[in-house]
Amino acid sequence: MKDIFGDLLYFLNLCGIYQKDLKSDEFNDFISSEVFSVEQDSKVQISQLVNPFTTIDENLKESYFSPVEYGKYVFNDEKRDFSKEIQNLISEFKKEISALPMNFNIVERLVKKYFSFVSFSKPFIQSISAYQYSKLQALLSSSLRLYCQNYGKNLGSLQNAEQIFTLVGGDISGIQRFISNVSSRGALRSYRGRSFFIEFVQEVIVDKILEDIGLSRLHVYFIGGGHFYLIVPNISEIEQKMNKSIEEINRWFIEKRLDLSVIIDYTHFSLNEVKHDIQKVFSELSKKLRLKKYRSLSIENMPMVFEPLTLSNLEVCKVCGRKVEKVYKLRNDDIEAFACEICKMQYEFGKEIMESENVYIIESAQGNFEILGKRFDFVQNFEGNRKGYKIRKINEILEKEENIIPLEIVSYAYSQDLSELSVDEPSKKYASFQADVDNLGNLFRNKLGNTSLAQSSMISGMLTYFFKQQIYKILAGKKITVIYAGGDDLFLLGNWRDVLEFSKQMYEEFRNFVQNENITFSAGYVLFSDKESIKMIKEISENAESRAKDNGKDSIAFSNPIYKGMVISGQRKHVSKGLALKWREYQEIFDFFEDTEEIADYVDRSLIRKMLNISYENTPLAHAYFSYLYARETEERDKELIGLIMEKYKNLDEKSLEKVNARMNLIAQLLDLTVRR
Ligand SMILES: [Zn+2]
Repeated sequence: MKDIFGDLLYFLNLCGIYQKDLKSDEFNDFISSEVFSVEQDSKVQISQLVNPFTTIDENLKESYFSPVEYGKYVFNDEKRDFSKEIQNLISEFKKEISALPMNFNIVERLVKKYFSFVSFSKPFIQSISAYQYSKLQALLSSSLRLYCQNYGKNLGSLQNAEQIFTLVGGDISGIQRFISNVSSRGALRSYRGRSFFIEFVQEVIVDKILEDIGLSRLHVYFIGGGHFYLIVPNISEIEQKMNKSIEEINRWFIEKRLDLSVIIDYTHFSLNEVKHDIQKVFSELSKKLRLKKYRSLSIENMPMVFEPLTLSNLEVCKVCGRKVEKVYKLRNDDIEAFACEICKMQYEFGKEIMESENVYIIESAQGNFEILGKRFDFVQNFEGNRKGYKIRKINEILEKEENIIPLEIVSYAYSQDLSELSVDEPSKKYASFQADVDNLGNLFRNKLGNTSLAQSSMISGMLTYFFKQQIYKILAGKKITVIYAGGDDLFLLGNWRDVLEFSKQMYEEFRNFVQNENITFSAGYVLFSDKESIKMIKEISENAESRAKDNGKDSIAFSNPIYKGMVISGQRKHVSKGLALKWREYQEIFDFFEDTEEIADYVDRSLIRKMLNISYENTPLAHAYFSYLYARETEERDKELIGLIMEKYKNLDEKSLEKVNARMNLIAQLLDLTVRR
C-alpha cells in the first residue's frame, strides 16, 4: 500500500517545498482537482493566512495571522511582505523532515508545526491553513483510494453523489456529572484527574476503533471535549469491524460501571457534500447520536448495570459514593481504604498529569492504569519503539516518536495545592472561572452552513488553538490552576485577584484573536473559601455562567454576594442574583476597581464596610451620604476614595441607581478582600 505521508505532502510538493518522489497518484490528483479546484501543474506558493473568523461574516475587515510555528503566540497582522518569516518556516521544516523517519505521525506533526499559520496561494482559499488543506487532501484521497480499490472501481466511473465516505461520530456523555462527582477528600486532584481522564479516554477510544478497522490516525477529523469525528472509506468490511469495536467499547464502560457512556454512530456522504454541504452531514449524524443516547440503556445491558448491587459485602466508595467490591487508600498515609478503583485511578491521574517530568503516557503490559484493556504508565522517557501519547513538549518531534500521538493538554498549575494559591492573600479567598463560546452550534449550522469541510475544520481548529495555546500567555505567572481547557471552554481555580485579572485579559485576548464582534464568549466568576466543596463550586460556577448567557451573552456574571443564611430583604433584591455585566462594562468596572484598590490599601477598613452597606441598601440618598462622609473626612487617601465613589453616584435616575449600587457592591466586596489583614 501507498505511504500515506505522501498524501500529506502533495500540496507542499506543488509549492516545491518537498520534492522527493512522493508517489502521488491519480487519487491525489482527483481530490485536489475535484474538491479543491487545483490543477496539477498549478504554481502554488505559501501565502499569508487570513484570519478565518474575519471571513465568516460579510463586510468585516479581513485580518491576517502572523506566520508562526504551532504553539507560539499568534497575533493579528496587516497584509504585508513576510517572505523572510516564511523562508524561515520552510527551511526549519526541511531541516527537520530530512533528519526524521518518514512516517505518518511524524510528517503530520511537522506539517502542523510549520504550516498552521500560513496558507497556499490562489486558487486555495486564503483563510484555510496549508496544514488544514494538506490534512484534508490526505484524508480524502486515502479514503477514496481504499474505496476504489475495495470495490474495483475507477475514478472515471464515480458519481458525484456516490456515498464514498463514512463520517463516524462519538460522544462521551455524562461528563459533567462524572467530573464533579467527587467528595472533598483529594477533591482538586481527583477533579483534574477526572477532566484529564475524559481527554485521554477519548484518544484511547479513537485509537481502538482505528486499530480494529486497520486505519491510521490520518482518519481522525476532530477530537476534543469528549467528542470525536473520524472520516473513513464507506466499505462494508470496515463497517462490520467498527460495529464490533463499538460493542466492545460500550461493554468496557458498562463493566467498569463508570457514570459515563459512549455513544458512537455514523453516516455516509459523497464528494458533493464535501464540497458544498458538509454541515448537513454533521447535523444528520448529531441527530442519530441524540436518538441513540436516549436508547443507550438497552434491555440487554440492564443486568450488567444492576448486577453488582445484588451482591452482599459491598463497600461504599467515599469519593464517588458507588458500591464496589474493593476499596483502596488514595495516599500511603491514609488511615483506611475508602476509594474505589476508578476513583483511585482519577486521583493518580490528577497527580501524574501535573508532574512536569512526565512527558509520555506509554502503553505497557504492567502499566498502572487500564483503559479498554490496554495498560499505561506515565514516564519521562522511553527506549525503543513504543506506542503511546506525549503530553508535554509536543512541538519537539523526536525520531523515536513514530507511534506517539501528541495530546494538547493545558497543564498549567501554579501549585498542586489549593491553599498555595492564596498564600500571600490576607482574605484567603479563591475564585473559579468558567467560560465557553456563545452560540457555537449556531455558528456551525448557520454561518458555516454551506461551506466546505475545510472551512468548518479551520474554525474549530482555531478555537481550540485559543483555548489550548494562546491561553498560556494570559496564565503566565498567575496563581491559577487550570482544571480543564477544551476546544471551546475553560474551567479554572485560583487566587481571586489573579482570576479577576485573568478574566479581563482573556476577554481582551479573545477579541484580539477573533477580530469579529459576533463571536463572543460568556463566563462565570465565583468567590469561594477553602471550606466549600469542589462539587458546589462547580455548580455555582455553572449557574453564574448561565446568568451571563441570560444577560444577552458576551458577558461575565459574578456569584451571589449574599452569603448563606442571610436574609434577602426587599432592598437587597438588586444584588440577590449576583451581578451580570457585558464584557465592555466589566472592563470599566475593572479599571475602576484597580484605581480604588491602590488607595484602599491605605484607608480605614470601616470606610469599605460603609461603602458595602450603602450599596446593599440601594438608597437614593447614597450620594448625599458619601458627601457627608467626604466633608467630615480628614485623611487624604480616605477623601480620595470617597471622591472616586461619589463620581459614580452623580445624577442618577432610579434605574441607574440600582445598577450603580449593584456594581459598587461588587467593588466593595473585592476591596474588602484586599484590605483584610
Ligand atoms: Zn469511587
